[in-house]
Amino acid sequence: MSKPVLSYLGETRLALGPAENAEGHPWRRAEADGVVWLVLDCADTSTNTISEAVLEGLNAEVEALEKSPPKAVVLRSAKKNGFAAGADINGFREMTGDGAVGMLRKGAEVLDRFERLRCPTIAVVHGMALGAGFEIALACDYRIAVDGATFGFPEVNLGLHPGLGGTCRLPALIDPLEAMTMMLTGKTAYTKKARSLGIVDAVVEERHVEAAVEAVVAGKVERRKPGLKAKALQFEAARGLVANRMRSETGKKAKKEHYPAPYALIDIWEEHGDDRKAMQKAEIESFAALLKSDTSQNLQRVFFLQQGLKNAARGEDGIDHVHVIGAGEMGAEIAAWAAIRGKRVTLGDIDLKPLGKAVKTAAGICKDKHLTGIETRDVLDRLIPDPKGYGLAKADLVIEAATENPELKEKIYADSEERMKPDAILATNTSSLRLSELGSKLKNPGRFAGLHFFNPVSKMQLLEVVSQEGTDEHVLERLMAFCGEISRLPVPVTDYPGFLVNRALTPYLMEAMVLMEEGVDKEIIDRAAIDFGMPMGPVALADQVGLDICLHVAESLKSSLEKPMPASSDKLRRKVEAGNKGKKSGKGFYDWSDGTPRPDTDKAGPDDLTDRLILPMLDGCVECLRKGVAKSADEVDGAMIFATGFAPFRGGPMHYARTRGTEEIRKRLEELAERHGNRFAPDPGWADL
Ligand code: NAD
Repeated sequence: MSKPVLSYLGETRLALGPAENAEGHPWRRAEADGVVWLVLDCADTSTNTISEAVLEGLNAEVEALEKSPPKAVVLRSAKKNGFAAGADINGFREMTGDGAVGMLRKGAEVLDRFERLRCPTIAVVHGMALGAGFEIALACDYRIAVDGATFGFPEVNLGLHPGLGGTCRLPALIDPLEAMTMMLTGKTAYTKKARSLGIVDAVVEERHVEAAVEAVVAGKVERRKPGLKAKALQFEAARGLVANRMRSETGKKAKKEHYPAPYALIDIWEEHGDDRKAMQKAEIESFAALLKSDTSQNLQRVFFLQQGLKNAARGEDGIDHVHVIGAGEMGAEIAAWAAIRGKRVTLGDIDLKPLGKAVKTAAGICKDKHLTGIETRDVLDRLIPDPKGYGLAKADLVIEAATENPELKEKIYADSEERMKPDAILATNTSSLRLSELGSKLKNPGRFAGLHFFNPVSKMQLLEVVSQEGTDEHVLERLMAFCGEISRLPVPVTDYPGFLVNRALTPYLMEAMVLMEEGVDKEIIDRAAIDFGMPMGPVALADQVGLDICLHVAESLKSSLEKPMPASSDKLRRKVEAGNKGKKSGKGFYDWSDGTPRPDTDKAGPDDLTDRLILPMLDGCVECLRKGVAKSADEVDGAMIFATGFAPFRGGPMHYARTRGTEEIRKRLEELAERHGNRFAPDPGWADL
């Protein structure tokens, strides 16, 4: 067999016919030894997404293939980063009207038609095959994975489930329970898992792809047959039992009124799991209905907010070498993450112990992120413990993540300025100190800014890029681009007490302390927040952040904000003084020895409980907008969702405020202020929304 197309490796080894990547037809065609290769190459993008044009293009190819079937058809991608990232979400906007069902049917019919081709069909997948990309791969008879490939249905994160037949195809291919779990959780299966589940028929190195295709064409690769479990689940009664279990498992993570998609999927599977035609019809109708739901609309909004933040992080950062000062909880993770994203990192600390621990932290993150042995070795090579701080003189960016103490930080800056390159940037990770004060003695304040990471750095996507009055514009641009380079979402904010996120979040945490002092159980408080849609309640969150840090931030905000902050509670102080600092010491308000606590309670709290927690957070956001701390309501929403997990299905705090009615919220805050004190008095900014 002559050589197939591998343009993504820069090795176009098969002569493709004339470039057929004309607008509207993103499949490039090539033929070798009777095998047709269809290579997806969406124009003007580095990532394939599945649009109407992709499906129409495939349909046109199928029409030709039906007339003269080749020995086999191979589908693959010309893009370096993978097969396809999923559906083109821009296209969803056109699908909210009555035509959605028709459009979905048309798309599903293309894959059905492809599936019916009278020759073996093979998907060769490198990188990601997600959502609609995975649907296309599933419509093939065989899937060959290049090591490193990942498969998944993340639709649930958009308030949806698969909509091109995937709800039928995946449970028919692998253990139906595993298939449902993948669709219900949106979790991806990495190559090894995909192989063991039976999603892929072979895993090969890139250089063996052709041999694997030849083996399939020669009939040497056997297709999987459905297992016993799949047969048992042909019976409705068996599915009914399993479906109930799935509902209760799903209920632990997401309420039906907040996230209807997983429940809709379970219903469809329970009812039609033995009848593909009926299931596909139900899948399409359910998808079209979900697409219009508030939840999906808001989750799509979150997707676009994320895109917006990503777009702001484009550009050249000119940063190869990062020096991190302080290898504690934050510094260790910052250093590891920057090294994972390809930066050369030196990490300093006055103490040797945290440096050793930091290397272990880095190895642990590599494992969590499924890096291969070689990738992990390279990361650890790039991460250099540097107790003497030699890296300071070579770094393009110095990130200070030392103990939260202004005198100590100022000393560090004085020493660093002496040794840093003239164009290197000095950034602090402080949570609660004012940059204007910290940097007041700097010789070159133009290069000084804040890079406020969230804990844990390897999981939290957001970064606040904090400007102080004197920061050079170019420095801020480079920091924004740096965030993009390390795959983080930056929000530019000004030097305000608590910046944006902590300014908004702290009153929420502190109101929980006040409520506990009033005698309300912590479980009742946390349950109310979770029922609103927060990922965890404020008491558990305070434990997770660290009660000492909460106390510190609250006290610092209390002294620097115009608005009264709930008095830093005695309860909180007593916990900290007793050494019960939360998760990190095993005990705070909750006992963390058995993992994350679950606030189970049926008891009801005061009827204004949820508003007392949530509205001060919204009020903080409004204050930040009025003061120009953040530039737009969208950036506020993105920041709060990606830093705190603010109920994504509500589209962000400002979107929630607009949906509920800004005037109604303002009045409610006035009521709360009358009842509980001036800390609830609405910000003047509400009047301008
Ligand atoms: P930490 O106590 O875990 O780590 C601080 C480290 O700094 C320690 O290892 C200490 O040995 C080291 N250090 C102290 N003096 C030093 C010096 N002169 N030179 C070099 N290293 C020195 O603290 P942390 O939680 O990692 O916080 C660090 C910074 O990050 C603080 O400014 C904090 O406000 C900020 N921050 C913390 C969090 C969080 O959740 N912990 C989140 C965001 C920002």
